Amino acid sequence: MPSIPSGPLECSRDDCPSHRGEIAARVIDHASHRTKHGIRKRRRCMVCGATFSSLTGTAYAGLRRRKSDVDRVVQMHSEGMTKAAIARVVRVSPGTVARWIERAAAHARSFHDARTQIEEAVEVQLDELSCGGVGDAKAAWAFSGIEVSTRLWAGLLVAKRTLRATKQFVREVKYTIGTVTEWTLFTSDCFKYYRPAMSAAFQDDAAVYVQVKNRYRGGKIVRSTWTRTMGSELAHDDALAPNSDSHKPNTAFIERLNLTKRMCSSLLRRHKPSPAR
Ligand SMILES: [Zn+2]
Repeated sequence: MPSIPSGPLECSRDDCPSHRGEIAARVIDHASHRTKHGIRKRRRCMVCGATFSSLTGTAYAGLRRRKSDVDRVVQMHSEGMTKAAIARVVRVSPGTVARWIERAAAHARSFHDARTQIEEAVEVQLDELSCGGVGDAKAAWAFSGIEVSTRLWAGLLVAKRTLRATKQFVREVKYTIGTVTEWTLFTSDCFKYYRPAMSAAFQDDAAVYVQVKNRYRGGKIVRSTWTRTMGSELAHDDALAPNSDSHKPNTAFIERLNLTKRMCSSLLRRHKPSPAR
């Protein structure tokens, strides 16, 4: 592996005065050392004196392994391999595998929290997906939301299907899409806790909330009925007017996303071979 290209020349410490614009940032080369995989540079901030490498603040910092090993571990985990199996393939201990996965998850989540926000939502669909329980444990559910016009995955929460979890999930969606000022359509299935959760989070917003009930026969929707539980009829029409994806309330987009998730993760696959194996 070639030496790591130099990162942006900014101090890595959050509390450094150079971030507040009072003092111009000045970062110099501090040292370089040879690792098994190339040369890694350390830099020093001349404002606060801290030293850091290009990996500081990333999920790879201080791991003493190739970045590609960490990437492989995370990928194998998301494909459904057990931690013990991954540990045998990569030749690290299962504890290390667990730690890397946890680290990667924490970084992915904080990246999502910091960067994923929408200016103006048009339509939001909410749904939950059963992840199945292990043994006697009650099933966990993956709540997820999608903002249809941008196809942005607007929220994810894995929890039991309780009122508290539903409220937390809806709050998370609200955090991503911000306060809604133009009439915006929200749809979900008829799960009983969405209604109190929606009215708690979007009471003072321009939200039109509709519950959709689909009747299936032979895997196809034969009839779809819906009930509006928040917002007036006029608001409903206003919410649908700028919408180029849906002409009437539906949950098709979030169901498509859930299907993708089932296909991509063996842990969520509906058919039975994975538990049997
Ligand atoms: Zn500094």
